[in-house]
Amino acid sequence: ALPDARGGIRFEDVTFAYGTGRVILPAFSLDIPAGQTVALVGTTGAGKSTLAKLVSRFYDPSKGRVTLDGVDLRDLHPRDLRRAIVMVTQEAYLFSGTVADNIALGRPDATFDEIVAAAKAVGADAFIQSLPDGYHTDVNKRGGRVSAGQRQLISFARAFLADPSVLILDEATASLDIPSERAIQDALQTLLADRTAIIIAHRLSTVAIADRVLVMEHGAVIEDDTPEAL
Ligand code: ATP
Ligand code: MG
Repeated sequence: ALPDARGGIRFEDVTFAYGTGRVILPAFSLDIPAGQTVALVGTTGAGKSTLAKLVSRFYDPSKGRVTLDGVDLRDLHPRDLRRAIVMVTQEAYLFSGTVADNIALGRPDATFDEIVAAAKAVGADAFIQSLPDGYHTDVNKRGGRVSAGQRQLISFARAFLADPSVLILDEATASLDIPSERAIQDALQTLLADRTAIIIAHRLSTVAIADRVLVMEHGAVIEDDTPEAL
């Protein structure tokens, strides 16, 4: 996605509370330069998913602002925001329809060749080819059932095709079967290249490929360093 769309993310003095509840992020500031891969780690309830949801505008800050290349996310057209920032969640949702439809979700204009190229890039092509109707297999029909690891690969192909400047990934906590775990690590490397990435990381192997690791606790960053240093 880089360099035309840059992808720098900044939190400027962001305070956030869900509804009128307790403050989750108190005056939070963070600068993520374009192209950087950041791994977020920390105890449960630290605010990692909340931070990710503010970047993808599931929520807006109560105070302060989140910017993309210096522009307040609230000032971006929703269409431009969805194009620039893509979040891949733990559940890796598949919708009723074919595998190809599912990959093309964010890019309805994509050609079949582009869909296949995206699947190949993240290593999903082989298993898709082995499905009863290949790319035309209905994911809800008998024979179209895919494993958790395969679902993750399909959602990676979807994100690769969407080609956002910022990718947010809430990594699955559930352990996947070993071959797909390896396939997913390889896919991740491809997916992260040339874009900004914020990964809520549960695997050490993911933390290791990040440029920077942020350790969060109680809505604050308590450590900010390279994976080697931590
Ligand atoms: P985990 O590692 O368990 O996923 P996390 O670091 O992602 O944790 P968050 O989900 O960001 O943590 O939650 C931070 C705090 O916000 C927690 O105290 C949580 O209970 C609270 N919280 C999260 N979502 C909501 C919500 N929709 N409404 C109210 N409070 C929420
Ligand atoms: Mg979370």
